[in-house]
Amino acid sequence: MIAGGGIGGLTAAIAFARRGINTTVLERSSFADQTGAGIQLGPNATRILKELGVLDVIRPAAFRPDAMWLYDGPSGRQLQALPLGKQADKYYGAPYLTLHRADLHDGLHSVAEKLAPIKLKTGFDATSIKTDGDTVLVRSADGVEAKGSCLIGADGLWSTARDLLFPRDRLRFTGATAWRALLDRKDLPSPFDAPVVALSSRATQELQRGARRADRRRRPSSFALFGARSRTCHRGRSVTRAKSRGVS
Ligand SMILES: Cc1cc2nc3c(=O)[nH]c(=O)nc-3n(C[C@H](O)[C@H](O)[C@H](O)COP(=O)(O)OP(=O)(O)OC[C@H]3O[C@@H](n4cnc5c(N)ncnc54)[C@H](O)[C@@H]3O)c2cc1C
Repeated sequence: MIAGGGIGGLTAAIAFARRGINTTVLERSSFADQTGAGIQLGPNATRILKELGVLDVIRPAAFRPDAMWLYDGPSGRQLQALPLGKQADKYYGAPYLTLHRADLHDGLHSVAEKLAPIKLKTGFDATSIKTDGDTVLVRSADGVEAKGSCLIGADGLWSTARDLLFPRDRLRFTGATAWRALLDRKDLPSPFDAPVVALSSRATQELQRGARRADRRRRPSSFALFGARSRTCHRGRSVTRAKSRGVS
């Protein structure tokens, strides 16, 4: 059993299925969640997605940047230009891609639902985990029980599985916060409209000033990432794809 059908849970289920191992994914939502923003997939990730038969499914929604540019925030000076695109394919044997997190999740979900060894249970909010001999029993908030020989907790940052199994573990706030928005590439100023991923703190200075005014105790993010798909610039905080043309 896998608690949570997000990026990690679905990837694990597909990996098991490719080896003929049955899994049941216990997912709280209905898999219709469209939250997130741009996500980078390095060649180490795309190589595995290729082996799992997911890469071709997500490829049409992904963007392959030609390079990654790093800028010094205060001066705006370019510090580094890392070639990607064809060179990454050649060097690493797998592409470097950026895409919307929801497109990655949709791709994983569409592959998982076609694989016979995977059972997807939606609306299952795991609230209790018990063992009985060699069996793990997971109970949902509305009293439905699921049984299996083992359980993988893949229920995200606010993991219930972790809270239940390791009650003394606490999430530690780093003091860093981020604001995120999605924009059409055509609306980006030069040089960020180039087909590259650009990391810079210069473009976030206005946001940082706003953030400091809003909450002086928190340290705002120090960079912005431009370039996922044809439209994306993101700076933290989830937005839905429905809102993705605006700024959240
Ligand atoms: C701004 C931003 C940029 C990022 N960029 C990158 C990047 O470039 N590259 C990268 O590799 N990563 C990136 N990440 C991180 C990436 O999104 C996460 O690491 C990843 O989604 C975590 O996967 P997960 O499976 O652990 O959790 P999630 O994908 O969050 O999935 C958890 C799932 O568990 C379900 N769930 C929760 N509680 C329960 C419960 N009690 N019972 C049943 N189901 C439950 C949820 O509904 C969800 O479907 C980024 C994150 C952010 C915020």
